[in-house]
Amino acid sequence: MGTGTLTIDLDAVAANWRALDAMSAADCQTAAVVKADGYGLGAGPVARALAEAGARRFFVAVAEEGAAVREALGPGPEICVLSGHMAGDTELIRGRALVPMLNSAEQLARHLEALPGHPFGIQLDTGMNRLGMKAPEWAAVRDLALVARPSLLMSHLACADEPGHAMNPAQLRAFRALTDGCGVPRSLAATGGVLLGPEYHFDLTRPGVGLYGGLPFEAARPVVRLALPVVQVHVLAAGETVGYGATWQAEDEAVIATVSGGYADGLIRRMSGRAVLFADGIPCPLAGRVSMDLLTVDVTHLAEVPEALEILGPQQTVDDLAAAAGTIGYEILTALGARYARRYLGDGRGGVR
Ligand SMILES: *Cc1c(COP(=O)(O)O)cnc(C)c1O
Repeated sequence: MGTGTLTIDLDAVAANWRALDAMSAADCQTAAVVKADGYGLGAGPVARALAEAGARRFFVAVAEEGAAVREALGPGPEICVLSGHMAGDTELIRGRALVPMLNSAEQLARHLEALPGHPFGIQLDTGMNRLGMKAPEWAAVRDLALVARPSLLMSHLACADEPGHAMNPAQLRAFRALTDGCGVPRSLAATGGVLLGPEYHFDLTRPGVGLYGGLPFEAARPVVRLALPVVQVHVLAAGETVGYGATWQAEDEAVIATVSGGYADGLIRRMSGRAVLFADGIPCPLAGRVSMDLLTVDVTHLAEVPEALEILGPQQTVDDLAAAAGTIGYEILTALGARYARRYLGDGRGGVR
């Protein structure tokens, strides 16, 4: 087979959800964020596994993603849309029973007019300046909104992956000031917020990246493996070069494996000269530049060149690879390409340890 194989361990996703769920009190619900096609791993299979594990509420970025998750889950679970109720979303929100998290007075007016009685939540801005109503806007519509009985008041932390950051307590105070006494369930924490401790949990947490094995959830079980088949092996004489720009030069006789996978598959070009692949646990450095469909790897030190090399797995997590590429695990995950053969392990019911 010419394409790489991406193996996604759904039991590990389920185990990560359970582990994050166990960090908050029993009366705090743990949702699951499955936006961006389940962080690149497939929203349908991931959402089904999380539902098996016990998740009852899911978050997506846009209504179209919500429709796909509804397709996968069927009726029942609540699917919340972080971008709220955009013009043109009404039919999807109604037809697929989605719950928009309304971000502005304009969205609130649109929702109450287009779909009176249809569930909604409110997103408040506590300092990130990205989504949600700020204090004056919320003060202006608060009574009207509360009469219509929102199912959730939520906000999002800008620096939750830095536990000592002053933004965290400041946003916590701002969130309390905006929501105390409203009598509506509240949510502030994503993965990082869950790890900050109980005062950040409120009634519902919304982890995403931790479910998929990413930082800041250090105790996460790894979820993905990515094996890239060796297409060809070249033996180079000293002085010969590899790849575009001839940036890598053999000092001695060298053996270079060409593997299937490149920047078109999310293995971004910044990894050139920095990332390693693994052959049965033995690290093999990239040689030369990442190209669109191929990587070239120095395998001179191997006794035998295997049929495939692993770029993601227990030896190198998404965050390790991200560090080599100068980015974050989130970006590596969501960039994983459409050309890989995808193999799903488990169904969310296993993975109990
Ligand atoms: C993406 C997102 C989450 C999940 O964040 P993670 O850091 O992946 O856990 C939760 N809430 C909102 C509003 C988000 O945008």
